[in-house]
Amino acid sequence: MARIHHYIDGKQVAGTSGRFGEVFDPASGEKIHEVDFASASEVDEAVAAAAAAAPAWRTMSLSRRVEILFRIRETLDAHRSEIARCVTEQHGKVLSDAMGEVARGLENVDFACGIPSLLAGRYSEQASREVDVYSIRQPLGVVAGITPFNFPAMVPMWMFASAIACGNTFVLKPSERDPGASLVIAELLTEAGLPDGVFNVVQGDKVAVDRLLEHPGIEAISFVGSTPVARWVYETAAHFGKRVQALGGAKNHMVVLPDADVDMAADAVVSAAYGSAGERCMAVSVVVAVGEVADPLIDAVSDRLGSIRIGSGTDPESEMGPLITREHRDRVASYLSSATEQGASVVVDGREHERYRGPGFFLGPSLIDRVSPQMDCYRDEIFGPVLSVVRVGSYQEAIDLVNANPWGNGAAIFTRDGGAARRFQYEVQAGMVGINIPIPVPVGYFSFGGWKQSLFGDTHIYGPESINFYTRGKVVTSRWPDPATSEIDLGFPRTR
Ligand code: NAD
Repeated sequence: MARIHHYIDGKQVAGTSGRFGEVFDPASGEKIHEVDFASASEVDEAVAAAAAAAPAWRTMSLSRRVEILFRIRETLDAHRSEIARCVTEQHGKVLSDAMGEVARGLENVDFACGIPSLLAGRYSEQASREVDVYSIRQPLGVVAGITPFNFPAMVPMWMFASAIACGNTFVLKPSERDPGASLVIAELLTEAGLPDGVFNVVQGDKVAVDRLLEHPGIEAISFVGSTPVARWVYETAAHFGKRVQALGGAKNHMVVLPDADVDMAADAVVSAAYGSAGERCMAVSVVVAVGEVADPLIDAVSDRLGSIRIGSGTDPESEMGPLITREHRDRVASYLSSATEQGASVVVDGREHERYRGPGFFLGPSLIDRVSPQMDCYRDEIFGPVLSVVRVGSYQEAIDLVNANPWGNGAAIFTRDGGAARRFQYEVQAGMVGINIPIPVPVGYFSFGGWKQSLFGDTHIYGPESINFYTRGKVVTSRWPDPATSEIDLGFPRTR
């Protein structure tokens, strides 16, 4: 059983803290790895390696940096399957889904390859007489990323691609539940020619996170994970004077208007609710069925659930894999009990699926109808293959429901009415909106981020906003006057 180590200064480094975690194959329920848990001093070693690499990396010309980014792109591209297999082994998502994760992550590397034009400043000649003004953006130094279990390859790419392209060096703290992909990626970055120390990985838990947040050598923190931890990371990193973006959890609603094509809406919601066993921050977890569409839509969704093939992610026949741990699976299943107790109707109960009995951490796709906002299954982020249906009478009730929800990651509307869609886009309080698209994850050259409790901080992640996040602006006002024209003027400088 291979132990998963840290990656510091261009090589794997075995942990010395004596602390470690266990990594499971969620499909078999068996322990397959141990992972080192860093102590504060091991985090310090990684930050020191990143700090030592920073001056040369920052000084390297943009054209040379871009050559390396293109090689990183090519190397990761050539090893997509290897990264995806590791994701499937430790996360459990089916291989095709893991390949999709890697492809979406690579979009961020594609974007970063355009860094020369992204970093280019503006120049105003003759802003005042013989005075020019221009803007530049400079890297922050050492920055860190803390990532969740559900996208062990893509979310790190959301962060490090832009961070290193901007000239920073990076320390990643991946999820301890599926840490393997971080090492595969680290090795590939080194193989691609990234200088040692520019990208480092510390494995671990809260001890490592605490040290990263307080470490005086780290300038900025990107965090993606659950809302309570995101809020705490945001407050703690800000307390220590760091720039921080902390993306949290979600409760994504899909509003289906009475004029929608029922089969199309059902296909979309089944894909978006049960793909990756519902463990996506952009999964649809609530359908808001408006008026008479509710009954046919629920019938169409439940008809489809019986044919979803559930099994190990490595089986090419499987469409939906297990959940990440037994504890998480049991917590997700508990919402089916509380929903019944609180008056909802469980139309499809995933505990009746044969795979629920094991081995592995499986739960069949589940559908709860007649959910109301007071119920636990509506109030909490479940993060599993459980879809709630809230029935409402009008568009206005639907939008009021969505906007009253404390999260605001994604929201979608299904309709054939362009005017209704336009109104939804204008009124909905969410950072990412889908119109007849259930999972509106922006492409890599836009930025990703929710509103309200789905994001703490000012900037969204990846894409254009990441360039601002990972750099500081500087504006230069310059003149090269003839010394003979020099004079004293105590007035506040004005343009002439
Ligand atoms: P999590 O919050 O448990 O863990 C995220 C990271 O924080 C991990 O690296 C973990 O080791 C660390 N961590 C956990 N608890 C900690 C604590 N008490 N102190 C310090 N560090 C701690 O999240 P998760 O279960 O790994 O991931 C699922 C969550 O992430 C869901 O809520 C999902 O919605 C969210 N998520 C959000 C986005 C987004 O873009 N908004 C994307 C992916 C996942």
